[in-house]
Amino acid sequence: MISVEEFQSEAADWLAANRQFAPRDYGAICPPDLVDAGLEWQRRLTGDGWAGIHWPTEHGGRGLTPEHNGVWLLECARAGVPAVFNMVGFVLAGGAVMRYGTPDQQAEHLGATLSTGHVWCQLFSEPGAGSDLGSLATRAELDGDRWIVNGQKVWCSGGRYSNWGILMARTRPLDPTGEHGAPKHEGISFFLCPMDLPGIEVRPLKQMTGESEFDEVFFTDVELPAGQLLGPLHGGWGVGMAVLTSERGHIGTSVIGLERRLDQMARLAEGRELTGLERDDLASLLSRGMAFTAMAQRQGPIASTAASLMKLGITEMMFDVAMLRGDLGGADAMLQGADSTGMLAAPGGRIAGGTSQVQRNIIGERLLGLPREPKPT
Ligand SMILES: Cc1cc2nc3c(=O)[nH]c(=O)nc-3n(C[C@H](O)[C@H](O)[C@H](O)COP(=O)(O)OP(=O)(O)OC[C@H]3O[C@@H](n4cnc5c(N)ncnc54)[C@H](O)[C@@H]3O)c2cc1C
Repeated sequence: MISVEEFQSEAADWLAANRQFAPRDYGAICPPDLVDAGLEWQRRLTGDGWAGIHWPTEHGGRGLTPEHNGVWLLECARAGVPAVFNMVGFVLAGGAVMRYGTPDQQAEHLGATLSTGHVWCQLFSEPGAGSDLGSLATRAELDGDRWIVNGQKVWCSGGRYSNWGILMARTRPLDPTGEHGAPKHEGISFFLCPMDLPGIEVRPLKQMTGESEFDEVFFTDVELPAGQLLGPLHGGWGVGMAVLTSERGHIGTSVIGLERRLDQMARLAEGRELTGLERDDLASLLSRGMAFTAMAQRQGPIASTAASLMKLGITEMMFDVAMLRGDLGGADAMLQGADSTGMLAAPGGRIAGGTSQVQRNIIGERLLGLPREPKPT
């Protein structure tokens, strides 16, 4: 197997020769206006062997290690290009199908995801179930060889341009007391859902940035073939939690690209008369950034509960950076331009993939061993 060092140097050379074909680095989710450029970039990456780096070769990957994938992410961050087009497909759906899929499901989806034939969105959150995902109410009822799906999902990033979704739905009635149905986490199943089935309606949502990067998705008597169940019937909670840990791990790996951002942050001071307070804020952000970089190096690229620490750390820091940029930009930054957009977009990072408060609960309960928070029910 190629060494991590040799692989890293090949990746850097390839990126130096090809970065001009990449769209701007948009982070985890491609915005709708960059989809064509993102797809073209992914086809170039896949064609030259820079996709599915740590996926097994039988699933179309390169069969290398998470460390190889980690240095690929690092080199992409240094080059300022997106490392994958469809994070939901490559990290969440791909990871779930690899771990829980039947051989037929793996054959159908994994290669097609790498080649961009299947582009995925995540259909988890609902108007009444975000942090408390276990309260989700979308129902899937078995009728012969079909599941009949009814309900509503929300905040679905990239729903409009995805042709597949990973869907969590209730397959046993919700009964929080457990007296008349399953306790809420036990009656949920996980599905792979084609987005073009009759009865699925995708409606864009407008964000405070003015963009519409995510959607509401309505299911009305949607007939989903029975074979689209992934993992155990009624055991979708475990599949979903594995997926969310991978998502937090992926958000956490953006620390890998922090080096470049720290340089950009340090440059905020150039050519400006900073007040003592602003200097303090900047120095504090830089030292937090260095601490997270060190923690990321120690943690490595493998997702685990510790991913919550990285997710919390980096999204809170990026929020504070956006606010400091706004402060330094002066009154104009409140009106328009990159600083204004940055301030309006920053709160989303603290919410997506599980809010900061929820990450603190996970860290308290699972890493520090503190008593569990009281459950109102
Ligand atoms: C940019 C972005 C992209 C997203 N993309 C997707 C996607 O593609 N697919 C998808 O399914 N979802 C997506 N989401 C939704 C996201 O997962 C939810 O917004 C998130 O889980 C929070 O749920 P909620 O919005 O319902 O807020 P709520 O859960 O209602 O929370 C409201 C407030 O209460 C706090 N709170 C809730 N419970 C607790 C608790 N136990 N202890 C302390 N505080 C608590 C929260 O921290 C928050 O401040 C996205 C969100 C954003 C911002």
